[in-house]
Amino acid sequence: MPAPSSMPSSRKTDRFSERLIAWWDHHGRKDLPWQKNRTPYRVWISEIMLQQTQVSTVIAYFERWMKKFPELIDLANSSEDEVMALWSGLGYYSRARNLHKSAQVCMDHFGGQLPETTKELIELPGIGQSTANAIMSLAHDKPAAILDGNVKRVLARHAGIEGWPGQSKILRELWNEAESRLPQTRGADYSQASMDLGSLVCTRSSPGCATCPVNDDCEAFRSGTVDKIPAPRPKKAVPSKSLHVLIFQDEQGRVLLERRPPSGIWGGLWSLPETKSGKSGTALPELEHRLTHLHLRIKPALVTTRAGSGLKCHQLREKADTDWFSPDEWNRLGLPKPIRTLLSQLEGKTTA
Ligand code: SF4
Repeated sequence: MPAPSSMPSSRKTDRFSERLIAWWDHHGRKDLPWQKNRTPYRVWISEIMLQQTQVSTVIAYFERWMKKFPELIDLANSSEDEVMALWSGLGYYSRARNLHKSAQVCMDHFGGQLPETTKELIELPGIGQSTANAIMSLAHDKPAAILDGNVKRVLARHAGIEGWPGQSKILRELWNEAESRLPQTRGADYSQASMDLGSLVCTRSSPGCATCPVNDDCEAFRSGTVDKIPAPRPKKAVPSKSLHVLIFQDEQGRVLLERRPPSGIWGGLWSLPETKSGKSGTALPELEHRLTHLHLRIKPALVTTRAGSGLKCHQLREKADTDWFSPDEWNRLGLPKPIRTLLSQLEGKTTA
């Protein structure tokens, strides 16, 4: 049973955090790349990469990133193209653009460092309450409540909070739980322990309740509702959209690419020119691609041409951000994953 609400909150709090930290001391993860040489900058990059993305995917991206941008100043001084190229394939590209912008704000206003208060961190593009608190706790060892997907699941189950965590009422309850359980010390270890319990024990589909360190007062475990909490996002039909793209290829094998506008699908990335209908060129096999809110059916057509000559006949807009790229060049650009797949197939390369 959960502790009754009349019980002094410090007792309930201490018990939960103490058990979690004791478990983490023996079973937690301590050798992830961002846990070594832990700096606010490294914690920040890892936290942003880990939003919506699994640890196993993030590791390689994080290591590549740190080779190229070992310090915040290196990120601030880079071009948007370099940043997008390194992010290519991770999805949710506004995260990368915000990292770049925030690094520049830090150079201009915080002496080239991340600010050291939650209030100032939250004002940076792309940093919300949970990420700011993750930086405060993991990098500065201050007890600060975090609420990523894993922690939401643990708290919702442990406290027996039903409903979808995307609902503001449920979210408020979860924040209250997160804040009331904070320990006085070992802020970094507690945050890491909360995330680790969610990803190693209290997993979405097969939680290990029998060996869980906080099972003795877990409400979902007690009431047999573990598989019902948290409630899934209410289902909405995902619309489909056809995207006709043209692969203009010149006699040297270069392709014509244009940079997409900063907002919208694949904002800021390089992509193939689009047309309204699929009447031009030689049709190539279609490609399906799922975004969270949209199901894309990409319909490519190949147009072999001389450099520059294909533009007018296909009524493409004159754009400053349109250019021809050889395979070596486009390989280094930030491209949406399906577009990279298409171009790689064209070059006869295998894709990841
Ligand atoms: Fe999660 Fe089960 Fe532990 Fe409760 S007992 S926190 S449901 S793993």
